[in-house]
Amino acid sequence: MSDLNQSALQKDTGMTTEKIQIDTLVIGAGQAGVAMSEHLSRLGVAHLVLERKRIAEAWRTGRWDSLVANGPAWHDRFPGLEFEGLDPDAFAAKEQVADYFEAYAKKFNAPIRTGVDVQQVQRNAGRPGFTVETSEGVIEANQVVIATGPFQRPVIPPIAPKDERFTQIHSAEYRNPQQLPEGAVLVVGAGSSGVQIADELQRAGKQVYLSVGAHDRPPRAYRNRDFCWWLGVLGEWDAEAVQAGKEHVTIAVSGARGGHTVDFRRLAHQGMTLVGLTQSFNDGVVTFQADLADNLARGDENYLALLDAADAYIARNGLDLPEEPEARTMLPEPACVTNPVLELDLAEAGVTSVIWATGYSADYSWLKVNACDAKGKPQHQRGVSSEPGVYFVGLPWLSRRGSAFIWGVWHDAKHIADHIVKQRTYLAYRDASQRQAEAERKARPDGAYADSHAPKLSIMGVS
Ligand SMILES: Cc1cc2nc3c(=O)[nH]c(=O)nc-3n(C[C@H](O)[C@H](O)[C@H](O)COP(=O)(O)OP(=O)(O)OC[C@H]3O[C@@H](n4cnc5c(N)ncnc54)[C@H](O)[C@@H]3O)c2cc1C
Repeated sequence: MSDLNQSALQKDTGMTTEKIQIDTLVIGAGQAGVAMSEHLSRLGVAHLVLERKRIAEAWRTGRWDSLVANGPAWHDRFPGLEFEGLDPDAFAAKEQVADYFEAYAKKFNAPIRTGVDVQQVQRNAGRPGFTVETSEGVIEANQVVIATGPFQRPVIPPIAPKDERFTQIHSAEYRNPQQLPEGAVLVVGAGSSGVQIADELQRAGKQVYLSVGAHDRPPRAYRNRDFCWWLGVLGEWDAEAVQAGKEHVTIAVSGARGGHTVDFRRLAHQGMTLVGLTQSFNDGVVTFQADLADNLARGDENYLALLDAADAYIARNGLDLPEEPEARTMLPEPACVTNPVLELDLAEAGVTSVIWATGYSADYSWLKVNACDAKGKPQHQRGVSSEPGVYFVGLPWLSRRGSAFIWGVWHDAKHIADHIVKQRTYLAYRDASQRQAEAERKARPDGAYADSHAPKLSIMGVS
């Protein structure tokens, strides 16, 4: 077990022998937990962050080997620290992102305890606060902030067959092309993960089939500005609600090889076979929906809409950014689009592995409070849950489009920390009779003694 801040812990007694009391407990030390800790520290809220593995573990070991951040270093970071030794326009490798958050936490001496698994959170009966069971003992907290990540459990849809004839893995288990057996690969899902993995496999010499559903496909950069900049100035990161009909639309972007626009037609012209949405598996034969051309066309619409909005923004503000008419030229339709594959016999096609790049879900079964709906989905408003004192941070669309991304989570964490402090102010209110009783108590000769022994939630770490 390693600690960033021993002072956050109860001397050296260990959590197993003594119950820890803390004002605010943050669960998870990914980017969301680190951001939360920074804001709580700034506001003087005593808190402790518990992390079952290491800081930013998802970036260190939960992603494939070659992954780099999807946004450039100047954008995909917190306001208080730049990436050391990295060009602002470069894309940080996953280890650099993990190192960044570790350095960030050290910068303000975040009270993080690693190697502690939170196993249950329960509201106390008849008294305020929560009892939290962990692998190292019990903690009592007034508030609990859940920063356990939006992408916890890999989701493989029920159409996945139980078929020993080929290897099946989720994108969460993918590390590199060498890990797969000889033979062709079907990648199901063409969001940022699926398309980047498919591209890497093809570059490693594999025959790749890529199943493409509905997607947004922003240009990597346009007129000398990265799409992260465009989404920022056009207010799209701050969009507060998913557009109707776009609930299941993934975003296909890539920072790989210095960053490039995801162009499905280019991948097809380089030899990849694009197919529509994967529909079913039946005795080694996969069927695909006849929606590939439509999905690509809608992706193009999204791409061109951003170029139009960018051009209008430049004109409106009289910016001097070079024109880029070639960005509007589309490659001709490849054969796999004009004559789509609707059925594929995997053995005949030499497919020996299927990679499910089909997303993740969260698991809050350990959270025994009234903060989730009947389906286990968090119920909250900007992270303030339906159970007073329980907060969520880091979820997609928690408050806006940017919420699950590095820069966005920092702003959501700030809102939640402010909310915690506001609630404390309300709770500190005393009416006239209480104020008078308190004044009388303090005026008594034994008042000071009584005060210093009054039971209170212990203040550890930052206060
Ligand atoms: C493949 C991929 C690429 C991505 N690329 C980018 C990108 O380039 N830019 C960007 O802005 N975003 C990106 N994201 C989105 C997002 O930034 C990351 O998923 C990020 O890791 C989420 O941070 P988080 O702190 O919310 O969750 P996590 O990083 O998942 O952190 C949660 C932490 O909580 C811990 N934990 C969970 N349960 C418990 C428990 N019960 N007790 C104790 N600890 C617990 C976990 O060990 C983990 O360390 C990407 C996501 C994926 C999947």
